[in-house]
Amino acid sequence: MHRSLLITGASRGIGRATALLAAARGWRVGVNYHSDRAAADALVAQIEAMGGQAVALQANVAEESQVLRLFEAMDAFGPLHGLVVNAGIVAPPLPLLEMSGERLRRMFAVNVLGSYLTAREGARRMARSLGGEGGSMVLVSSVAASLGAPFEYVDYAGAKGALDVLTRGLAKELGGEGVRVNAVRPGLIDTEIHASGGQPDRAERLGKSTPLGRAGRAEEVAEAILWLLDDRASYTTGALVDIAGGR
Ligand code: NAP
Repeated sequence: MHRSLLITGASRGIGRATALLAAARGWRVGVNYHSDRAAADALVAQIEAMGGQAVALQANVAEESQVLRLFEAMDAFGPLHGLVVNAGIVAPPLPLLEMSGERLRRMFAVNVLGSYLTAREGARRMARSLGGEGGSMVLVSSVAASLGAPFEYVDYAGAKGALDVLTRGLAKELGGEGVRVNAVRPGLIDTEIHASGGQPDRAERLGKSTPLGRAGRAEEVAEAILWLLDDRASYTTGALVDIAGGR
């Protein structure tokens, strides 16, 4: 039987790799995107060509009304069993001294508020006391939460620190509801997020200095997410799993 999984920010990068792996393992996948409809549609077509099931769902996770609409659209897929809270942004490297209020607002709106709203709606769907069937939630944090990301983006690092705390707290709130909550904390992964922050070569350049000597691939993060979603991780909740090449 297919189980339903919603992935925010699935049109590219880590979200996209997770959607492909999940579909290959039998999940029905909700592919949330923000602006790149063509990429989301192409991913859905690729999943369908593999014999899987997927639907593209537009929503800006920073807007509560859009998050509510996203989950309502997902309800048509049947009971939700999995959620990957993945949508996230970076910004150009700056010390805090030079960050504008508008930048900080946007960073926390998408990465913190968006993640909290998404996690809340997922919890409302999966909690057994509310009629859900239980499930698993994976938040995509970052090792930046431990490193602090000085002179680059302490705002982003702080936002991801909030996700680590949410993971710990929500795991405790939902343990009795049949819902596991975990986080992956990727390091330098080769995706387009670095170009969006004005540093297209960042993962390759800095990846060389990690213990494993290279940047990671989105598929390597997806493997850990899929394990956490799966019943094989049945005794794992509240965990922060670093996928960072030892960084
Ligand atoms: P990416 O390639 O830039 O993809 C970001 C995805 O998020 C896109 O699908 C984008 O959709 C979506 N998105 C952006 N803003 C959104 C919003 N307001 N509402 C809904 N969707 C939104 O990023 P990535 O590297 O795969 O990163 C995925 C997650 O991993 C992020 O949370 C990031 O912080 C985290 N992470 C990444 C790295 C890394 O090195 N790559 C390391 C640590 C943590 P559209 O394209 O449609 O706009």
